[in-house]
Amino acid sequence: MTDLTLIPAAQAHLPADPFKGRHLIDGAWTDSADGATSDRYSPAHNVLVSVAAKGGAAETEAAISAARRAFDNGNWSRSSGKDRATLLLKGADLIARDIDRIALIETLEAGKPISQAKAEIEIAIDLWRYAASLARTMSGESHNSLGPDMLGLVLKEPIGVAGIICPWNFPFLIVSQKLPFALAAGCTAVVKPSELTPSSTVILGELLVEAGLPTGVVNIVLGYGDPVGAMLSTHRDVDMVSFTGSTAVGKRIVAAASDTLKKVSLELGGKNPQVIFPDADLDQAADAITFGVYFNAGECCNSGSRIIVHEDVAEQLVEKVVALSRKVPFGDPLDPRTQVGAIISTDHLDKIDGYVQEAAKSGAGIALGGGVLRIDGLDGQFYQPTVVTGVTPDMPIALDEVFGPVLSVLTFKTADEAIALANSASYGLSAGVWSRDVSTCLDFARRVEAGTVWSNTWMDGYAELPFGGVKQSGQGRELGRYGLEEFLEAKTVQLRIGDTRAKWVAE
Ligand code: NAD
Repeated sequence: MTDLTLIPAAQAHLPADPFKGRHLIDGAWTDSADGATSDRYSPAHNVLVSVAAKGGAAETEAAISAARRAFDNGNWSRSSGKDRATLLLKGADLIARDIDRIALIETLEAGKPISQAKAEIEIAIDLWRYAASLARTMSGESHNSLGPDMLGLVLKEPIGVAGIICPWNFPFLIVSQKLPFALAAGCTAVVKPSELTPSSTVILGELLVEAGLPTGVVNIVLGYGDPVGAMLSTHRDVDMVSFTGSTAVGKRIVAAASDTLKKVSLELGGKNPQVIFPDADLDQAADAITFGVYFNAGECCNSGSRIIVHEDVAEQLVEKVVALSRKVPFGDPLDPRTQVGAIISTDHLDKIDGYVQEAAKSGAGIALGGGVLRIDGLDGQFYQPTVVTGVTPDMPIALDEVFGPVLSVLTFKTADEAIALANSASYGLSAGVWSRDVSTCLDFARRVEAGTVWSNTWMDGYAELPFGGVKQSGQGRELGRYGLEEFLEAKTVQLRIGDTRAKWVAE
């Protein structure tokens, strides 16, 4: 693979000591009662970068009780939008102050490029500021047309204690898609980061304490899905679970939550199609496809990993994508030039390679890559930029989330066929369309089964625009006003004006 652009081991220093992560429970930083910890080795360097407390039932129970008490005492849940916004803005400023240290630990634990980690934290800062604006502008409804003797009010109230469970692929960004919105609504929270990437959430907790968040409003329990996430899903004192992660775990959480009928909001996996019509700007499409498939090493719910291209332009497009793929710098995430870093674990590397080898055995072509990547001077795990052609709709690589830097290319003849292929996966997170004809784009946008549609672009995002999936990609929405609504309950108040109520019992 000498024709790829590879960045060898950077000279940047790895920290001398691993980051020490502890739980934040009721305003205090604590180790686990049994002293249990878990180690995290950098996926790129295979060096110990953090040691985190490993929470059990005792820590989870304590955190839930703290969040419950903090909600019920009303200091936060009944505070003014102005006060909540002030605190969220202060939090945003502190995140901005500490962006370098957050980005470094994010890079070391997740294997993502340092420049990308910083860019994600910049986006997160904007989310904290945007959520502050929602805290001040949220309102319910009033109904003044129910008759002269009745006024109807719909009050928006915080749902209560939110359990927030996050994945490893965008640790700081995803907790920032949830927590500031929960806090803006007036909720209290127990946050569980992924066991693979806990440390940036710990730093977030430190910054919120420094900002002056009242005790117990945000609690952080480090540890595994079982018991921490599982307890959040079943506990009667948790009013809702906001989860981002795999569809398989999302289903488990829904089942676990059914006994208490708590609300569950789910941001799950995707197998996102991009349909390229023959009149598309192929250079723009090729660049966006290259970005969409390699961004975050393909470990991205929004990975644009399934290309459905018109057969007349398929060869040309694939040539362009392969040429661009060779120019994308893969390598040491600590080097600011690197655009694609390491794969999260060796198990996951094997899973990615399994999909590619299985497709090749079933008759697909490998136009580029197709194997493990070695980076000079690094002992971590990387995968080659990979383009798989001749993929048929029944192949697992066309249907499952591969979650690696692997593009699957399918072809179509008619628009109806393209829509049917796009909708054939069980997922429905996002989809893209490439055409210079706005009618083609609009028709696609209206017929495709997806929570977000990108037209002549890929993976743009704005705090103002809601994000979420349909089908097995999830339920509920994050971001925008919808992101706040997830953490609110509606209460109806009916106010009779004057003594006009007709008596039910005859006098
Ligand atoms: P995962 O489902 O394995 O884990 C996610 C979180 O759930 C972790 O914190 C984990 O400890 C916890 N968990 C595990 N078992 C649990 C249980 N039984 N009960 C409660 N919590 C439990 O996902 P992952 O591997 O960390 O992340 C990758 C997945 O996340 C991919 O499928 C990806 O598409 C998805 N994702 C979706 C979005 C989105 O916005 N739709 C964004 C990022 C990632």
